[in-house]
Amino acid sequence: MTNAKRQIYLDYQATTPLDPRVLEAMMPYFTNVFGNAASRNHPFGWKAEEAVEKAREQVAALIGADPKEIIFTSGATESDNLAIAGVAHFYKEKGNHIITTTIEHKAVLDTCKALEQEGFTVTYLPVGKDGVVTPAQVKDALTDKTILVTVMYANNEIGTIQPIKEIGAICRERGIFFHTDATQGIGKLPFNVDEFNVDLASFTAHKMYGPKGVGALYARRKNPRVRLAPIIHGGGHERGFRSGTLNVPGIVGFGKACEIAQTEWKKDYEHAKKLNERLLLKLRAELDELIINGSVEHRMPYNLNISFAYVEGESLLMGINDEIAVSSGSACTSASLEPSYVLRALGVTEDLAHTSIRFGFGRFTTEDEVDYAAKKIIGTVKRLREMSPLYEMAKEGIDLTKVQWSGH
Ligand SMILES: *Cc1c(COP(=O)(O)O)cnc(C)c1O
Repeated sequence: MTNAKRQIYLDYQATTPLDPRVLEAMMPYFTNVFGNAASRNHPFGWKAEEAVEKAREQVAALIGADPKEIIFTSGATESDNLAIAGVAHFYKEKGNHIITTTIEHKAVLDTCKALEQEGFTVTYLPVGKDGVVTPAQVKDALTDKTILVTVMYANNEIGTIQPIKEIGAICRERGIFFHTDATQGIGKLPFNVDEFNVDLASFTAHKMYGPKGVGALYARRKNPRVRLAPIIHGGGHERGFRSGTLNVPGIVGFGKACEIAQTEWKKDYEHAKKLNERLLLKLRAELDELIINGSVEHRMPYNLNISFAYVEGESLLMGINDEIAVSSGSACTSASLEPSYVLRALGVTEDLAHTSIRFGFGRFTTEDEVDYAAKKIIGTVKRLREMSPLYEMAKEGIDLTKVQWSGH
C-alpha cells in the first residue's frame, strides 16, 4: 500500500500539455536548423523560412483560411490586442464604436478599456443567466459609428459557446468587421472562417497541445479585406503586421498541433464528453446542491464549472489541490477577494461564485483520473459540509434567505 500523492491535471482551459508529437517536430529547430527565417542570403535562413511557411499552411488549413491570412504572434493575448487596437486605429476616421461582451477574456476587455481612454466608445453586452449573448443583442447595439464587433467563441471559465456564426452574419450584412477570440474553440470545436462569417480570429498554440508563447491572428484578405495598424514596429515581418524575429521552433510546433487537431479533434471531443459526463454523474450520485454554471446545452465538453453550495471555494480547493489541479471562481490570485467577473456576469451570487470550481478535460485525461478526482472531491465536500451550520439549516428545511441573523 502506497501513499504516494497523485498529480491529476484538470485545468485544460488554463493550458494543455505539449503533445509528444509536437515536441518531436520542434526539436530540430532548436539545434541544427536554427536559422533566422528572415535571413534571405543562406540555407540556414531558407530552411527556417520553409518550416515557417509549412506551419502557416497547417495553421491556415485547420480554420479554412489562406496561409497569407495568418499572422504569427506571441499568443492569443497579443492577437486580441492586434485585432482590436489594429482595427480601431486603422479605421478611426470611419467610426469610434466597438461592441463586445462582459464575459470576454481580459485580453479583450483590457484592450477595449485602453481604447476607451483614447476616446473610443465600447458597448459591453450583458449575457443571460446561461452565459450566452444573443445575435439580436448585437444587432440592437450596432450604430453607424460601429467599426468592430468582438465576441468570443467558447468561454474559458464556463465553457459556453456563443452564436458567432449568426453574429458574424449580422456584421457582414452591415459591413462591420467581426473578430472572435476563438482560443478555446479552434482545434477543439468546428470552426471555419468562411462558414462562421469571421473577419479576424485569435488563437494560441498552448491551448491545443502546442507550445506556450506562440499564437496567431487570422485576418481576412478579401471580401472584405481587413487592414490593421500594427502594434509592434520594426523590420516589417509578417507583412508588416507584426515585426520581430519569428519563433521558429514554436511556430513549427503550432503547425504540428494544428495538423494533429485537424484529424483528431472529434476524437478529443468525444473523449472529453465522456469524461465530463462521468465526473458529473459521480458527483451527483453522492452530493446534492450542485449548480452547473453556464448553459448545459451551448457548451463545450472540455469544461465543467460547478458551484458546490455551502462549501467555501478556497477550503475546497485547499482540500483537493495537493493532488487535483483545478481553478476556482474565487480569484485568490488577485489582491482583492472579488469572485470571478464571468460568474458575476451570469448573475451567480457572490456566495455561489466563491464556491465554484472549474474542471477542464482534454486529450490526455483518463477515466481513472476522473474517478480518483471525483472520490477526493466528494470526500472533501462532505467533510466541509459536515462543519457547515448553513448546510445543516438548509437540510432542515430552513429558508436561509428569511433567517434574521443577530448582529445585523
Ligand atoms: C488563454 C486565453 C487567452 C490568452 O492566450 P495566451 O496565448 O496565453 O496569451 C485569450 N483568450 C482566451 C479565451 C483564452 O482562453
